[in-house]
Amino acid sequence: MNSLNKVLRNKAIRYLLLGLGFAAVIALTGMNVYSLYDIRDKMTMGVEERQIALVEDLIQDVRREIYSPFTGLNKIELEPVEYSISESGQFPPQLQEKIEKAAASPLFTGIYYTPADIDPCLDESKIYAYNYNEHQLEQTGNYPTILCDGVGLARTKARIELNSFNYRWNNNIEFDAHRTMNIGFINLKENRVIGYLTTTLDKDYIVNDLIQPLMTRYFSPDSAGGTVLWLHDWANDVVLATNDPSVQYDFEIVDKRQRFGTSMFENWNIKVAFMDNPLATAYNDTLVKNLVVLGFAVLFLVGALLFMFYTAQRERALALRQAGFLANVTHELKTPLAVMQAAGENISDGRVKDTARLKQYGDHIYSEAIRLRKMIEKLLDVAKTDSGQTLIQATPVNVNEALKAFVAENREYIESKGFNVGLKLTAKPALVMLDHDHFENVIGNLTENAIKYSRENKNILYTSSSSDKEVTINVSDTGIGIPRKHIRNIFKKFYRVEDTLVAKTKGHGLGLSIVRNLIQLNGGKIDVQSEVGIGTTFSLKFPILVKEEHSLTSKPENNAESATVIDPKEYA
Ligand code: ADP
Repeated sequence: MNSLNKVLRNKAIRYLLLGLGFAAVIALTGMNVYSLYDIRDKMTMGVEERQIALVEDLIQDVRREIYSPFTGLNKIELEPVEYSISESGQFPPQLQEKIEKAAASPLFTGIYYTPADIDPCLDESKIYAYNYNEHQLEQTGNYPTILCDGVGLARTKARIELNSFNYRWNNNIEFDAHRTMNIGFINLKENRVIGYLTTTLDKDYIVNDLIQPLMTRYFSPDSAGGTVLWLHDWANDVVLATNDPSVQYDFEIVDKRQRFGTSMFENWNIKVAFMDNPLATAYNDTLVKNLVVLGFAVLFLVGALLFMFYTAQRERALALRQAGFLANVTHELKTPLAVMQAAGENISDGRVKDTARLKQYGDHIYSEAIRLRKMIEKLLDVAKTDSGQTLIQATPVNVNEALKAFVAENREYIESKGFNVGLKLTAKPALVMLDHDHFENVIGNLTENAIKYSRENKNILYTSSSSDKEVTINVSDTGIGIPRKHIRNIFKKFYRVEDTLVAKTKGHGLGLSIVRNLIQLNGGKIDVQSEVGIGTTFSLKFPILVKEEHSLTSKPENNAESATVIDPKEYA
């Protein structure tokens, strides 16, 4: 009961360890997959962030270009504007210089100045328009409606006045969408607006000659790495410019939208789509490669784990069988020894005088000694194979001859057990390399088994046949057969089929393991076909060394006549 508990506990521990092993593999795999994806995402994100930074640079370039005529405006005294215009038709010289720069810029189509107290929306209002030829301002009632069409300057004014409680700069720039840029001039000392400078913007120039070239410069379709930009007028839902006309704008593929910044071009933004970014693709490829390698590693690990588990299981099963064997064999060694001891004792103390009894005791001793010798030989064979010490003395052997010799030598013994012996040699005479003793040991073991595992139907048939490359020897019986599920185990050491006949039959599960080892040592293969209640055939195959025409030995032979032939069909 104790040992059963121990076995069960050990079994539970082994399965628990296997489970833990699997859990560890799953955890490690999960962690690795997670971090691989994480690295990929971070890297890809890094790539995208760099592209966005470029878009921001592009926007800065646009802003700089638009503001460029007016840079340094806050360092100019604007208070003299009111007097300067009325006196000279020009702005104070430093400002005039900037106005002329703006006039030279193709971004602006017109320059206007509206003093703070004039409302350009009234019919009779007059404001100042810049005369490009005279380089001075002219008072006019004829100015574009854009200056007062409900939004334009009116909105700018409102915005600028919203800040009026505390002006911090001498100017305040506001845009009316992409149509006008309005600069409120502020008298900081008196905290009031002096007037408004309005420049009308050339939309086509800004789109086609400023933004579009910048887009292709920063993101030329060849080197943009799959980043596509669109200058999108969202208010009218039209695309005004793009770096890659081959990609159709679709809001679903847009990854980012960037604005032009405070107040500038409010109804435009730059939409960005990261198509198949080569770097991202490269990271994806690396990810796939890493996943494949990881997959193989995991498979290998799981394989190793299972292999170790099953090897341990097998070792354990073997150890259990070995322990059973040891108990068995000591018992089996003791029995013949006890018989021999008793018989010898009876003879030696002279109590038995009768010759018939003497012969009987002698026979006992003889047959028990043979049994003992066989058992010890088997044990030694196994020990030798286990320690790799089985020596092989291979010589060219004619299989037909060897089989014939074996049958001739053992026929009497086999028949004495009530068996019909059949021999059918159809192999073309050929030589194979074999250790003759091993050959006899193998056929002897197979014969012993055929004898042991047959009931009333007692037949043994030895056949040889050949193909181009190999010779096959079959040893068939019409015995009890081997249940299918046991077949793959019968060559294992100490393995016996748990069956009543087998249980009653003496054996230790060593014969076939010795047979297989010897066959393999001699370069052959062994196979078995069996059907319960019908019989068993063991097939041995050896590669041919020399064929008939080169045969070193005697002439071809036909043994069919010289042997008792039993057709295997008769067995059924
Ligand atoms: P042993 O005969 O000592 O038990 P073997 O290794 O020779 O050990 O055989 C292993 C098992 O294979 C046997 O216990 C038996 O169940 C089965 N076996 C071997 N040969 C035959 C056969 N010719 N017919 C039926 N069963 C066989």
